Amino acid sequence: MTAKNLVGLGLTALKSNFTTLGKPYKLNYCITYLCQSRCVTCNIWQMRPKGELTIDEVREFARKNTSFKWVELTGGEPFLRDDIDEIARAFKENSKSLYILTVPTNSLVNHDKVIAKLENILKLGIPRVAVTVSLDGYRELHDKIRGIPGNYDKAIDMFRRLKELKKTHKNLFFVFGYTLSKFNQGQFEKTFELVRKDIPDLKRNDFHINLAQLSSNYYGNETLDIKPNDPVVVDELAGILKKRDFQLGMIPIIENAYMKRLVVYAKTGKQPMRSRSLEASAFIDSYGNVYPSIMWDKKLANLREIGYDLSRMWHSEASEEVRKMTKLGTEPAQWTSCEAYQTLVGNVLSLI
Ligand code: SF4
Repeated sequence: MTAKNLVGLGLTALKSNFTTLGKPYKLNYCITYLCQSRCVTCNIWQMRPKGELTIDEVREFARKNTSFKWVELTGGEPFLRDDIDEIARAFKENSKSLYILTVPTNSLVNHDKVIAKLENILKLGIPRVAVTVSLDGYRELHDKIRGIPGNYDKAIDMFRRLKELKKTHKNLFFVFGYTLSKFNQGQFEKTFELVRKDIPDLKRNDFHINLAQLSSNYYGNETLDIKPNDPVVVDELAGILKKRDFQLGMIPIIENAYMKRLVVYAKTGKQPMRSRSLEASAFIDSYGNVYPSIMWDKKLANLREIGYDLSRMWHSEASEEVRKMTKLGTEPAQWTSCEAYQTLVGNVLSLI
C-alpha cells in the first residue's frame, strides 16, 4: 500500500506539470481556529471561532471529495479538536490513495491525550504521518515569542514523546517547525546548540524552517509589522541552508529546493515559481470557506453552500480567474510550507 500510494502521489504530481488537474490532490484544512498560545507573529489565538465544521460535515466533505493524496490538518492548535482522529479517519476511508497526513502542534495540549490521538491516527495505516512541533527559539526566546511560560519545555517533552512513539510506529515522522522572524533573527545557531543539550542526538535536519508571513484569511495578522522579505533574515536563512545535513532521497532533495527558494523569496519578496494553488491544492478554513491558499484572501465558495462538493466550484468563473492569475504570474507572492511542495513538484525541472 505504501509504495502504491507513493507512486500515485508521484504520478499525480508529475501530471500537474503538464495539465490542469481536475481536482486537488493536496488539501490544506484548518480544522479549528482555537489556540491557547499567544504568538507575537500570528493573531489566530485572538479569534473566538463559532460555527466551525462539525465532524458530520467533515465526513460528508471527505465522502464527496476523494482525490486527496496529502492532507494537512492545521489550526489553531489541531489537537484541541477531540475528534482529530475521526477527521483523519474520514479522509483515510474515502481518499483511498492518501499517502501523507501532516499536522502541527504547539505542544500545549495534554501530551498523553495528543499521543493517544496520534496512536489512533497512526493505526489508520496512512503511510506517512508527519508532526511538526513548533519551536521558535531556546527556552527564554521561545516562551517570549509564544507568550507562554514553560512552552519550550513542553515542546522538548513532545519531541521526546514522539521519538518514543516512533519505536512502535514506523509511519510516524516529526520535526521541529522553526518560524524565522524579526523576533528570533540571528538566534538559530544558539537555539540549535541549546536544544541539542536537551536532545543530544538532534540533527540540523530535525528543524523545518518557515518564515513568519502576513495573511488576512488565515493568520489574521495583516496589521502586524512583519516583513517576510526582511533583509535581516536572508543571511541567516542562507547559513541554515548551507549547514543542513547531506541526505539522499527525494524528500531531502525537495526540502533543500524549498529552502533555496525560501532564501530567494526572503531576498526578493517575489513568488519563486508559478504557484499550483487551486490546481494541485486548496485551502479550506474551519468554517468551510474555500480559498486558493492560506496567503490568498479570495474566498471562492463555502462548503455548506456547495453541498460539500469541491467539483461544484472547481471550474467556476472565480476559480478560472485565479488560475489565469497564476498563469500570468499576477497572484499574491507566497512561499509557505502549505504551498511550496506541490509548487516544486509541479515545476519538476526546478528540482534538477
Ligand atoms: S502560530 Fe500557531 S500556535 Fe501561534 S497563535 Fe498562530 S495558530 Fe496559535
